[in-house]
Amino acid sequence: MGEFDLIARYFTRPVRRSPLGVGDDCALLQPAAGMQLAVSTDLLVEGRHFLSTVDAGRLGHKSLAVNLSDLAACGARPLAFTLSLSLPQVDEAWLAGFAAGLFALADAHQCELVGGDTTRGPLCINITVFGEVPAGAALLRSGARPGDDLWVSGTLGDARLALEAFRGTVSLPQPMFESARLRLEQPEPRVALGCALRGIATSAIDLSDGLLGDLGHVLARSGAGATVETAAVTPLLAATRSGLQLPLEQLQALVLAGGDDYELAFTAPADQRAAVEAAAAQAGTPVTRIGRIDAEPGLRLLDAQGRALERRFASFDHFAT
Ligand code: ADP
Ligand code: MG
Repeated sequence: MGEFDLIARYFTRPVRRSPLGVGDDCALLQPAAGMQLAVSTDLLVEGRHFLSTVDAGRLGHKSLAVNLSDLAACGARPLAFTLSLSLPQVDEAWLAGFAAGLFALADAHQCELVGGDTTRGPLCINITVFGEVPAGAALLRSGARPGDDLWVSGTLGDARLALEAFRGTVSLPQPMFESARLRLEQPEPRVALGCALRGIATSAIDLSDGLLGDLGHVLARSGAGATVETAAVTPLLAATRSGLQLPLEQLQALVLAGGDDYELAFTAPADQRAAVEAAAAQAGTPVTRIGRIDAEPGLRLLDAQGRALERRFASFDHFAT
């Protein structure tokens, strides 16, 4: 099968929301009047971002999910995406599985594949997503203000727990491993929550490299500091609710710095608590208040007794030695 047969068979589908999809030199997008385009791209490299043994369908899902998660963090609604693939060989079973996982998530968000590029090489997947957001309404990292509450969606740490199980540093009962593994391999981007938080949240970010590291980006862009109540965060490891016993230090490392969560961390004024809860209910995504934004720069962690926790956590960095 040649390059063009491959594109035609697996990656060409009719478009409805976009004026022109796959097949020409460019795709054409038509954001609605008064909307801004939100654009984000992510590169996934075998061995670095995913294990070579991962199921193709889950990889298709995750490749798009991590991109949709960036749109969610901006409060943008997905519109379209492009897919650039570097493949070692044409493996039709793999391609069919990958496309099925990819399009299932794309269809759930009415996000259309409109173009891409296909070449032979090491397995790499690059997706660029395009979303739309009312002009001026995008949620930014720079908007956190002293006194704001700090919130996080869903649960944290289970994806990293699965990675540690793959690495052999923890051993999990099979059902617990499977559910943690689902969080690692098939994250659900919080698009509905991001959109519902427009006009309520003052800042937002999606959590890809671990809560504390990603929160640091918000604080840097906002010129502020934060206090995090770790006792509010540690119960967010879902595996502990199904009976996993972990030393507190290990539990803290998973939820505070685990990575690959694809939840949203966001800030909102304290008088918006009811509005945040209503947005979360509307989106069907639980949210938890985990701290506050301070005028004083830096990140302060409190333990369950409200005392300063001096421990340092390293966030994920592809170039850290
Ligand atoms: P060009 O040479 O103009 O870059 P290509 O021959 O690479 O075009 O691609 C032909 C068409 O197929 C283009 O419309 C391109 O956007 C689309 N395309 C290529 N690879 C993919 C892919 N993996 N997924 C979706 N569309 C693709
Ligand atoms: Mg090309």
